[in-house]
Amino acid sequence: MPELPEVETVARGLARVWEGRRFASVVTRRAGLRLPFPPHFAQRLTGRTIERVGRRAKYLVVRLDGGLVLLGHLGMSGRMVISGLKNTPPGPHDHVEFVTDDGVVVTLTDPRRFGLMILCDAAEVEAHPLLAGIGPEPLEAGFDAQVLAGALAGKATPIKSALLDQKVVAGLGNIYVCESLFRARISPLRPARDVTRDEIGLLVGCVKDVLTEAIAAGGSSLRDHVRPDGELGYFQHGFKVYGREGEPCPDCAGAPACGGIRRIAQAGRSTFYCAERQR
Ligand SMILES: [Zn+2]
Repeated sequence: MPELPEVETVARGLARVWEGRRFASVVTRRAGLRLPFPPHFAQRLTGRTIERVGRRAKYLVVRLDGGLVLLGHLGMSGRMVISGLKNTPPGPHDHVEFVTDDGVVVTLTDPRRFGLMILCDAAEVEAHPLLAGIGPEPLEAGFDAQVLAGALAGKATPIKSALLDQKVVAGLGNIYVCESLFRARISPLRPARDVTRDEIGLLVGCVKDVLTEAIAAGGSSLRDHVRPDGELGYFQHGFKVYGREGEPCPDCAGAPACGGIRRIAQAGRSTFYCAERQR
């Protein structure tokens, strides 16, 4: 599932090919994804110039001339694929095709169809029901120890689950929460309210570092972004704990001090951590 760095990478990749261009045609191949496409979706986009492509939490925010905004979410499995040629037949999961005036084709491919594409007015973006109530952007200055401490105060839920709450902080998902807690040496099992102010300060820095490094890794994957299979948003970068159950812990000396990376379930999601290093 794409998290903040993946969506940021998609936004930056789309910005390169879309900003300043005009949608020459938009084709939808089904009635919708998680939600139906808005009425006249394709017609309302066609002919518009793309002014800016950005991101809020895990949403793509595409600003068009005339004050129209395309809000997109990639759901569980959505991908935006850039290609230079229009004439390849669409695959079964290619649901929307965007063609700009220079002939570049961007296809939204989403096998599980949990993604969404909606339209709204520029003045309504922040207050839109999908975005209203979402917490601070973790890479912005407004996300600091004081803000996070305020959001965690009194919460009995484990810190792992609290950080997944989009009202606490925007855009974090399972992968980057596990990685951030590992770096900050905080057990994912600790009640959020028991994490000390000093630890929260450390955690904020770790969240920012983990995300910044992942975005940098995604950015390096963008170099070849225009090619027949130019897929955006998924890239190789090293996770220290995520998906590494049973592997040696990268920061401990190993057995018997540390039994390696453990996987437990919290609120139905896998948590990966080191029980020795994270207390
Ligand atoms: Zn360890």
